[in-house]
Amino acid sequence: MTSAPLPNLRIGLGYDSHRLGEGGPLRIGGIDIDGDLHAIGHSDADVLLHSITDALLGAVCAADIGRLFPDTADENAGRCSRDFVLAALEKIGQQQMQIVNLDCVILAERPKMAPHIDAMRTCIAEMLGVDVAQVSVKAKTGEGVGEIGTGQSIATRVVVLLAGINPV
Ligand SMILES: [Zn+2]
Repeated sequence: MTSAPLPNLRIGLGYDSHRLGEGGPLRIGGIDIDGDLHAIGHSDADVLLHSITDALLGAVCAADIGRLFPDTADENAGRCSRDFVLAALEKIGQQQMQIVNLDCVILAERPKMAPHIDAMRTCIAEMLGVDVAQVSVKAKTGEGVGEIGTGQSIATRVVVLLAGINPV
């Protein structure tokens, strides 16, 4: 069987969720949203940066965030999730890949994400060294149903597309 050379593209998928607790701020997408909620976790619990990290790692078949940064390790307690994103970025760089774009979905009943979307996009783009036009962030509620809809938890999903720096 013959096959044509494949384009040097890789797709990655990230998913994460955290329980929500009383008392703000909520760290998400690298920014802090003031209010009466925060995400509970071992690190800074940035549920969006965790999904972005796993999407990047998945695209190059690297170990996931839980294996790279175990939540049993003291050095990861309260750790800024920017560190995880930068480590994933290093992994894709080692494999001669660069980011084409990423598309992110936040699932949360509250707080309202709309006023903060642009700040998240700017922060994420700066972190990844890409243009803000390559970073999409959108938010949905849980329509009052399930753990997300009743405000017990927050979740994110991220897909990322990578392209080889050098064509195959
Ligand atoms: Zn997480």
